[in-house]
Amino acid sequence: MNTKSYKVEPQKKVNLKDFSTTYDGDLTKEEVYETLLPKNLRKMAEYQEKFYAENQRGLLIVLQAMDAAGKDGIIKHVFTALNPQGTQVTSFKQPSSEELDHDYLWRIAKALPARGNIGIFNRSHYEDVLVTRVHNLLPLQQIPQSLVSDDIWEQRFKEISSFEKYLGNNGIKVVKFFLHVSKDEQKERLLERIDREDKNWKFSSSDISEREYWDEYQKAYEDLLENTSTKEAPWYVIPADKKWFGRYLISEIVLEIMEELDPQFPELPKGEKEQLSKWREILLGDEKDEEEKEKSKG
Ligand code: ATP
Ligand code: MG
Repeated sequence: MNTKSYKVEPQKKVNLKDFSTTYDGDLTKEEVYETLLPKNLRKMAEYQEKFYAENQRGLLIVLQAMDAAGKDGIIKHVFTALNPQGTQVTSFKQPSSEELDHDYLWRIAKALPARGNIGIFNRSHYEDVLVTRVHNLLPLQQIPQSLVSDDIWEQRFKEISSFEKYLGNNGIKVVKFFLHVSKDEQKERLLERIDREDKNWKFSSSDISEREYWDEYQKAYEDLLENTSTKEAPWYVIPADKKWFGRYLISEIVLEIMEELDPQFPELPKGEKEQLSKWREILLGDEKDEEEKEKSKG
């Protein structure tokens, strides 16, 4: 699949209206769920095993979206392929008072994946240039007011890009997905949360009040996509109205990145490798000893 058309080119002007929220190509839901997605998930698991064994690089996957766009579904249906030993999912909610007592990247840094691991962020440091911006939350936070300059958002874009570059330089690859859902589709999904008892638990009245800020959010997303999609840490805009397509596309992109990283099983140190046949004989000798013991007992 050509994933390039979903990638945001660095410093290129972004108008979200130019990105479709839906998919109208030839793939069908059936072939994706029955064949294509399961195949990708198996491949992802194989790569992950090497990635874990290699223990050199980390992979950070950032999921951002408007409410009900399907972040949880991506985690449940795509990242389910990954071995829990070596994967951490972190959901970022409203910052606690302890978190607000620190710089905004503090809680992010604490949740970064270790080498060999894959970290999945359900929301992320990007909330600090989204909800914080749309709702003008900075005056309510602990940051000194004298530091809240007019160009604070541009400043944060630079900080975030440097931070992600720093991670890349340290072997932690960052890739970011914006699930792009239409306002109508969001309405359908919120209605479903209201109408279906098994989905009620997902409903929050704030989903409705946040919807009123739709345009402000879209604008804030456009600005951050334009300013923080880099070669090292690209953004992808994922059409999210058809859940099955978004899930498949993300699996394709993650696979591509894993392929590029090309993790390898580590080689045993030379000395150890030379001794392998000796250890094998000792183990097999063990078995013979046991057999002889059994015989002499009988
Ligand atoms: P769903 O899409 O299923 O509703 P969710 O990710 O919205 O899941 P919630 O618990 O509903 O999960 O919401 C988390 C809330 O925390 C969001 O409204 C988000 O904007 C808010 N949040 C996250 N980070 C920050 C931050 N740095 N500052 C302020 N609010 C934040
Ligand atoms: Mg929510």
